Amino acid sequence: MTNKAYNAFETAQAQFDKVAEFLNLDQSTSELLRNPLREYHFSIPVRMDDGSVNVFRGFRVQHNDARGPAKGGIRFHPQETINTVRALSMWMTWKCAVVDIPLGGGKGGVICDPHNLSPREQELLCRGWIRQIVKNVGPVSDVPAPDVMTNAQHMLWMLDEYEAITGGKYPGFITGKPVGMGGSLGRTEATGYGVIFTVREALKEMGIRPEDTTASVQGFGNVAQYAIQLYNQLGGKVVCVSCWDQNEKTAYSYKKLSGVNLQELQDITDKFGGIDKGKAIGLGYEVLPGEAWIEQDVDILIPAALENEINAESVTKIKERVKIVAEGANGPTTPEADEVLHKRNIFVIPDFLANAGGVTCSYFEQVQCNMNFYWEKDEVLGKLDTKMTSAFIAVSELARKKNLYMRDAAYVIAIDRVAKACRSRGWV
Ligand code: NAD
Repeated sequence: MTNKAYNAFETAQAQFDKVAEFLNLDQSTSELLRNPLREYHFSIPVRMDDGSVNVFRGFRVQHNDARGPAKGGIRFHPQETINTVRALSMWMTWKCAVVDIPLGGGKGGVICDPHNLSPREQELLCRGWIRQIVKNVGPVSDVPAPDVMTNAQHMLWMLDEYEAITGGKYPGFITGKPVGMGGSLGRTEATGYGVIFTVREALKEMGIRPEDTTASVQGFGNVAQYAIQLYNQLGGKVVCVSCWDQNEKTAYSYKKLSGVNLQELQDITDKFGGIDKGKAIGLGYEVLPGEAWIEQDVDILIPAALENEINAESVTKIKERVKIVAEGANGPTTPEADEVLHKRNIFVIPDFLANAGGVTCSYFEQVQCNMNFYWEKDEVLGKLDTKMTSAFIAVSELARKKNLYMRDAAYVIAIDRVAKACRSRGWV
């Protein structure tokens, strides 16, 4: 989103075209899947606190719903574009398909900066978003969720507006709600834990014990912290984490060869995932430039911050010893860097598989809401482990059998499942 020339949708279509060719998809199936089924563009007038009316632009894209209701977040971002929303909705289709949950792909957005909106204005924007799209979303058609700069409160306002208009209680209409208001236990841990479930399986295949490995992590937010927690529980040691320093407007890496202490770092981290540099130095951490996380002599790299961080330049810094790159973030690897990882035979667990724990748990949230019966945390995390593990095994078995790169194998499974659903419905 920072690079205006970068068109995420073209990238998503190029990735799709490559796999469509491999799968020998017929012309009509390809045409159907390389574009969204539906997209909605709308205006949302909001009466601002000063009495004026601002008109915001909103989007919802439903890329595909052959396997179930569309599923995907709503982003609030000043540089939101329809092409980004299209790409993300397509990636959601593949993510839901690769973990085999009965959902399709969708994504929504509003061009706005919530930092400049009062809570009242944000509430009106959320309610306005629903009013414009209410006929085209719902618990059995399209289920939104929080995403960039939207949170549980935004989801509750949206749910409330939806229920006020439709006249019923439909907690399964939206996910990412707080626990006690229809949210699922385990959602906070889900994405980070999901990353490590896949890392654990990859290590098993390689015949390596987690307790004999070390890792370096980019990011110290939701995904990174829970990934580190579970990895530590398996016996692994994280020697370096990096995060953004809001005061200095730059990133730093924090290194401790004896292993970073998750709890002590969490105690000095703000709610945006920024570590207090001064306090970290006091605790004996070596402070390095932000990019240093990638050049550590470790077995596993976990990018869990931003897109495009493993690029043509940074990829050259990856040490010989690295065996696994587990993509916690969305799109952390550029296509050029991906080729290098492939050539170097590094085992890549691609983003839409590695970080699918979040949407899988959102699916569990929806299921619990629809039943109006909520599971214990252990039950949620146990079911998550089962889903992530079987998805990982299916992808890695195909990769081995057909001699495919892991990312390509994941795409092949996902696209094939969606294409089959379209065909069996008689759409193509
Ligand atoms: P978050 O906002 O909780 O944390 C982001 C972290 O990245 C913070 O620690 C921040 O300091 C760090 N960061 C920002 N810029 C950095 C830089 N230049 N160098 C190093 N660190 C930097 O976000 P999150 O929810 O943990 O999400 C992280 C990634 O995972 C994103 O790509 C997101 O799209 C993806 N993802 C998240 C979920 C989820 O459930 N949270 C699900 C799927 C994918």
